[in-house]
Amino acid sequence: MHVEVAIIGGGIAGLSCAANLGSDVSAVVLEAEPTLGYHATGRSAALYTECYGSRTIHALTTASRTYLTELHPQTSTPRGLMFVAPSGDEEAIANLMVEFGPLVPSLLRLTPTDVEQSCGLFPTSLVAGGVYEKGARDIDVDALLSSFASTARVNGVTVMTSAPVTAIERSSGGWTVVTSDFQYTADVVVNAAGAWGDRIAAMAGVAPLGLIPLARSVFTCDPGQDPQAWPMIVDARERWYLKPEGPHLLGSGASEIPSEPMDARVDERDVALGIEKVTTASTLNIRSVKNTWAGLRTFAPDRIPVAGFDPDHPGFFWLVGQGGYGIMTSPALGALAGCLVRSLAIPEELSNCGVSVEDLDPLRLR
Ligand SMILES: Cc1cc2nc3c(=O)[nH]c(=O)nc-3n(C[C@H](O)[C@H](O)[C@H](O)COP(=O)(O)OP(=O)(O)OC[C@H]3O[C@@H](n4cnc5c(N)ncnc54)[C@H](O)[C@@H]3O)c2cc1C
Repeated sequence: MHVEVAIIGGGIAGLSCAANLGSDVSAVVLEAEPTLGYHATGRSAALYTECYGSRTIHALTTASRTYLTELHPQTSTPRGLMFVAPSGDEEAIANLMVEFGPLVPSLLRLTPTDVEQSCGLFPTSLVAGGVYEKGARDIDVDALLSSFASTARVNGVTVMTSAPVTAIERSSGGWTVVTSDFQYTADVVVNAAGAWGDRIAAMAGVAPLGLIPLARSVFTCDPGQDPQAWPMIVDARERWYLKPEGPHLLGSGASEIPSEPMDARVDERDVALGIEKVTTASTLNIRSVKNTWAGLRTFAPDRIPVAGFDPDHPGFFWLVGQGGYGIMTSPALGALAGCLVRSLAIPEELSNCGVSVEDLDPLRLR
C-alpha cells in the first residue's frame, strides 16, 4: 500500500499531526499498542498552564488555548493553578513573578493568608506565599485525543492499532515501513514515537537526537475533605504537585528518573518520596493511596520539542521531545507539524503567539 504520509505513534503527537494533514493527503497512523494513547499520553497530569517551561513552550501553549477553550470546549475545563513556596522561600515566588509575570499579565501574587484560604492545606505558618494563575485548566485527555482521531478519520486517515513498526527502509523516492502485518511505502515518515523516537530513527538509518526519557510516578489519595474546588497546587520550585481528581487528589514528587523507552512501571520508592514531600509541605494527611501509575516524559537535550524534517534525510520528519508539556501544546504543535509535512507556511495564529519553525527544527541538535 502506498500513502503520502506514514505516522509512527498513536499518542497525542501522532494524532495531532494526523488531524492537521487535511483531506487531500493520504496517510496512515501506525500504533504499536492495542489502544491509542497507551503510553505517556494516557498517564499525564492533564494540566494546561502558561507558567511552565521556556518561551518556546509558552508560545506553543498560548497558541493551543483557542483549540482547547473555544474550538473544542469539551476538551478542557477551568481549574486554576496555585504555586506555593514554603516558609522562608520568598525568593521562589519572586523568581516566578519575574519569569512569568510579563508573559501572563493576569498572574496574581498571593499572601500566606490567601494561600491558606484557597484550600485549607497550607496554614500561614507553613508558607511564604504563592502565585495564582487563573487561566490554568484541566484537560480531558481522552476527549482531546478523540477530537484529533476523529478529525483525522473524517479526513480519510487510516488509524491502525496493534501495528508495531519493525523496519523502515529507504526506497525509491521515499520509505518502506514494515509492521507485523502490513507494509507501506510512504513519501514522508513522521516519527511521533515518544520515548522510542531515537529507536525509530535508528531503524531508518537516521542519526539519533539524544532523546532523554525520564520516568515519573504519580499517586491518587483521599484527602479527607472535598478538593473539587481547589486549584492545582504546585511547589514554587516544582518539587511536588497536587491536583484535584474528582473527590481525590493526584500527587507526585515531580521526579525525573532516567529510563529506557519502556512501559513505565511504578517505582514504590518514588511514590513514597512524593507522599513525604507533599505531607511535609502541607497538613495533608494521606490515609490511603487509591491508585498509582508511572509514565515517561521524553525530552530533547535542550528541553524544547522537535518538529521538522531531518536535515540529512529528506522525508524523515521528527515530532518528538514533548517532555512534560505534550498535551497542552498538542493543538499548536500538531498544526505546525501538519503544515511543515505538507511544505506549507505555518498559520498566522501560531506565529502571532511567537511560535517559530526555527526554534523547533531538529537542525539545532545536530
Ligand atoms: C506523569 C506525567 C505527567 C504529565 N503531565 C502533563 C501535563 O500536566 N500537561 C501536559 O501537557 N503534559 C504532561 N505530560 C507530558 C505528556 O504526557 C507527553 O508530553 C505526551 O503525552 C507525549 O506524547 P507522545 O505522543 O509524544 O508520546 P506517547 O504518548 O508515548 O506516544 C508515542 C507512541 O508511539 C508508539 N510507538 C513507539 N514505538 C512504536 C513502533 N515501533 N511502532 C508503532 N508505534 C510505536 C508508542 O506505543 C506510543 O503509543 C505528563 C507526562 C507524565 C508521564
